[in-house]
Amino acid sequence: MSAEPDGPEDRLRRFATIWSRAVFPVTSTSLTRPEFEEQLLPLARRLSQALHTRTLDADEGRAVGAGLVTAHCTDPEALSRSMDCVHAYLVLYCGEDGDQEDLRARAARLQHAMAAGYAQALRERTLAEQEAISAAALKAQGVVAQALHASEARFRAVFEGAAIGIGIADLEGNILQVNGALLRMFGLTDQMIRGRRVQEWTHPEDAPQTWTLYDELVRGEREHYHVEKAFSRPDGTALWTNLTVSLLRDADGNPQYQLALMEDTTERRLLNLRLRYEATHDALTGLPNRTFFFERLEKALSAAAGQRFGLCYLDLDGFKAINDSLGHAAGDRLLVEIADRLQACATAPGEMVARLGGDEFVALTTGTSTEREVDELAERIMNALVTPVSVDGRELLVRGSIGIVEGPAGERTPAEVLRSADITMYRAKSAGGNRYELADEEADARAITRHGLTTALPTALERGEFFIEYQPLVHLGDGSVRGAEALVRWLHPQHGVLGPDRFIPLAEHTGLIVPLGRWVLEQSVRQAREWRERYDDAGPMRINVNLSPCQLTHPGLVQDTVDILERMGVPPDVLCLEVTESALIGADDDLLKPLRRLAEMGVDIALDDFGTGYSNLANLRRLPVSILKLDRSFTQSMQQFPADPVDLKIVEGIVSLAHSLDLAVTVEGVETGAQAEQLRILGCDTAQGWYYARPGPPERLHELALVDATG
Ligand code: C2E
Ligand code: MG
Ligand code: MG
Repeated sequence: MSAEPDGPEDRLRRFATIWSRAVFPVTSTSLTRPEFEEQLLPLARRLSQALHTRTLDADEGRAVGAGLVTAHCTDPEALSRSMDCVHAYLVLYCGEDGDQEDLRARAARLQHAMAAGYAQALRERTLAEQEAISAAALKAQGVVAQALHASEARFRAVFEGAAIGIGIADLEGNILQVNGALLRMFGLTDQMIRGRRVQEWTHPEDAPQTWTLYDELVRGEREHYHVEKAFSRPDGTALWTNLTVSLLRDADGNPQYQLALMEDTTERRLLNLRLRYEATHDALTGLPNRTFFFERLEKALSAAAGQRFGLCYLDLDGFKAINDSLGHAAGDRLLVEIADRLQACATAPGEMVARLGGDEFVALTTGTSTEREVDELAERIMNALVTPVSVDGRELLVRGSIGIVEGPAGERTPAEVLRSADITMYRAKSAGGNRYELADEEADARAITRHGLTTALPTALERGEFFIEYQPLVHLGDGSVRGAEALVRWLHPQHGVLGPDRFIPLAEHTGLIVPLGRWVLEQSVRQAREWRERYDDAGPMRINVNLSPCQLTHPGLVQDTVDILERMGVPPDVLCLEVTESALIGADDDLLKPLRRLAEMGVDIALDDFGTGYSNLANLRRLPVSILKLDRSFTQSMQQFPADPVDLKIVEGIVSLAHSLDLAVTVEGVETGAQAEQLRILGCDTAQGWYYARPGPPERLHELALVDATG
């Protein structure tokens, strides 16, 4: 035995072996088991490939199902075992390199395609067989006149030996003869069938056209017909068949007999029902699953005018904690108990309960008065959760949050309704849980964009949807442009340009701020290098880049910054990192260490939005900061004339303190010339604001700097 790990081909072979072992015993074939395995191998390969193609091709699954019929696996048990085999082993042996959940879902869809292909192929094959037999029967009749005995013997042989049921009746419907296979299928004896008439064999599930076709045939207006038909057996069970009835004419072409050929499809039908059940029900709780629920919701939403729907979307509070502390088996038992209780809450006509997955359930009510009913339904569900659930001798207290959506049919799609319910449920959860909330379109809209933005963020960076605008920093003394602050924006494919306030908090929350911040830093430093190359004589152009608190604590901050500066070949004093005052309040030495390292290298650190937090001016000495950026609120108070004297005094005080600590002062939000003048008199060094320029593309800065250098 080799110690090498198996390659994909070995694993595929292993799957084919398991499959052939499962199916071989129920297959009537003259092949040996290994020979039979060779027949299944190409089918296994098709399944494996179909599992991995980008868009799942159901035709492949159907072809494999048909292939089973070709390989003589026509016993219903063969399909059932194949299904089990694909279910249990396909992903295991042929899908180790992918998202397992996705692969499982694909394997399930392949199984259904296989079952469909199998049923179709079997039907076609039976039809072909039936046609061959009717042809033989007709031929036998045709030659009756010439060689009655010989042909009759031949027909007898076919008649008795056939695996399918055959019966002959006259045109009045009197049964003349049936073969052994038919008797076995019906569970009847020859005596019991004698004297019976075809017309007695009606069944409640007969398709409407069944008996019209029959009438047409016995009147000589049609040669044959084919239907799926059920018969009642003497023991009360149903026999399902594929039935073909042909008209037999005498030598002159006059209708004489009818010939029925039937194949027993009862088991296959049961298997299909089982497959359908499995595809639409949750294995753990037996409740309808997501697929089933979507079908029902779709139906409810496309109902006639006047009809309404109400939906309760339930998520258990703290289920994960139960699962983690008591184990999955206990968690499962809890879910089963909850499922039972929920089911008991929705028993009226038009009501249903389903499990969407995990600890998420939905209850649906439909009809004309769901406005009232849905609240009652939610009440019943909350009440059903009150009694503790006992699992492994423990009494577990279960709580849940419910999002309710109610409305008229015909306005929304199932996906929209479910999304709204999901968002509402989260609202109930964030309000503390153990409650229900009603969907509210406005709250939905807010949450959708928030939720949507969060999920779209990671790909936005890969797709290059971010860009940077630059806002000049102007020297108050001589009005020259000294640099710019980099301000990031997101060009969202649906929502257009979004400002940083919309997405920076989300990026901080998800951790994306680190790669995003690195990208901003790199772009900005590259831009600064370009400016330096162009306007060398206009004085050094500096770039201010904002840092989030999360970036401050990220261990790669210093190294990333050094790397970028080196790669771009610019000196550290080109860069100024802006950190908000609030991020540094109460900062300990560990937090300040990376900033201190950067400051020692020559990178400027600015204290952004200064004056908005709770500032301990004495603390400033301790920080590795060289610039104070006075918050916009100070500038704003200078808009009216005359400015508030107290504010002026404060700014004056801050400026003189800053200068005594060797800190430069930049002011933000300068919107008028009067403000600029006032701030200059107060001793501020640099200014930034709409008065000079709004944030814009880097070329804007070229123009400003040029005007400045030449003017
Ligand atoms: P900030 O660093 O205080 O940036 C200044 C903000 O004031 C910018 O808003 C700018 O557009 C705005 N502004 C400039 N001049 C005026 C004016 O004359 N009047 C008024 N009313 N506003 C003015 P923006 O671009 O929306 O940025 C908001 C905040 O987002 C920034 O505040 C900064 O904290 C953060 N931010 C921006 N880019 C980044 C980034 O790349 N990384 C991180 N971590 N944060 C960023
Ligand atoms: Mg800033
Ligand atoms: Mg600021």
